[in-house]
Amino acid sequence: MGEHGLSQLLLGLASDGPDRHERADDELPTPSCPPLPRFRSALLREDWTDAEQRHRSVCAHCRQAEAQARQQAWHPSLVHLFWHARGLLDDTDTDVAYHLQTDGCRRCRRLSMLFQADRLLARLAARVRQGVVDAASRLGRMLASGAVASLALPVSTGPRPEQPLAFETAGHSAVLRTDPPLLRLERSGDAKTPSLLRVLFGSGKEVREQFAVPRPGKEPGVLRADLPLERLPTGPLTLALYEVDATMLGKEEVPQLCSAFTATSKLDPPSVLAWHGWASATLKLSGLEGAVRSALEGLSRPDAGDLPKR
Ligand SMILES: [Zn+2]
Ligand SMILES: [Zn+2]
Repeated sequence: MGEHGLSQLLLGLASDGPDRHERADDELPTPSCPPLPRFRSALLREDWTDAEQRHRSVCAHCRQAEAQARQQAWHPSLVHLFWHARGLLDDTDTDVAYHLQTDGCRRCRRLSMLFQADRLLARLAARVRQGVVDAASRLGRMLASGAVASLALPVSTGPRPEQPLAFETAGHSAVLRTDPPLLRLERSGDAKTPSLLRVLFGSGKEVREQFAVPRPGKEPGVLRADLPLERLPTGPLTLALYEVDATMLGKEEVPQLCSAFTATSKLDPPSVLAWHGWASATLKLSGLEGAVRSALEGLSRPDAGDLPKR
C-alpha cells in the first residue's frame, strides 16, 4: 500500500468512529424530544421556544427529524400564493387559505406580502380580472420562473459584511453586502439571451421592487446582477424573483426600468452591455406598448449609460 492509500485508510478510520456512533444514536428519540407533529408546526410558524432551541442544538435525533420535516413541508406554488394574495382564487380553493391561516406559515405570509406590494403584478392581476385574453396564463408562466430565498439577520450583532441568502431552488445564489449596501444575485444562465428579472425583497412591511438584467459573471454559465440598496434591511429578509415577459410591461414600469438602468450603470458599469443586449432583443418582439418601445430604444442606444470610452 502506498503512502496515499495508507493515509486514505487512516482518514477513513478516523472519520468512521464518531459518525457511526452518531448514526446509531440518532435513531432513538430521547424523553425530552418534542413529538413529531411539533417539528412541522414549529417550522411553518417559526416559533421554537427557548427550551426547544437549546435542546435541538445538542440533539442529533431532533436535527434529523427537523431536516426530514423541512423536506416534507408543503407550500403552495408562487402562482397560487399570488392568486390568493390578490383575491383571484375561487371559494373552492381552500388549501392556500388553510396553509396561511390555520398552519400559519410565516414563509408564505411573507411571500404574499411581497406579491401584494409588486405593482407590476397588481396591474397584471387587474387584467386577469378584466378577462383580458391570455393574461392569466402569461402571468402564470412568469411566476413559474420564480425563485425564493430568505435570510435571517442576526438581531443582536447586525449583519456581517457578506451574508448569503438561502435559496430554496438550485441555480441561484445571493449575498447581502453592507459596504456599500447591495444585494448581489447570481444565477445560471446564457449570456447570449439576457433576461429582465423582477426582484422583490423585503422584511416586515417594507418591500422593495427592482428590475435587473444579469450580466456574465466570472465563471462561464453564471450571470450576475448587483442591486443597490438605500439602506440595509432589518429583521428576516425574504426575496422573490421572476423573469419578466416584456410584452406585459406598461408605461407604468418605464420610470422604474430607467432608474434601475441608471443605478446599475453607476454601480456596475459592465452591466450596461447586458441591458443593451436585452433592450435590442426585446425590441424585436411584437406587442410592446408604445411607451415601453421608446424607452427601450433609448436604452439600446450605444451612448446610453455613458459607457466608458475605449
Ligand atoms: Zn431531541
Ligand atoms: Zn408555506
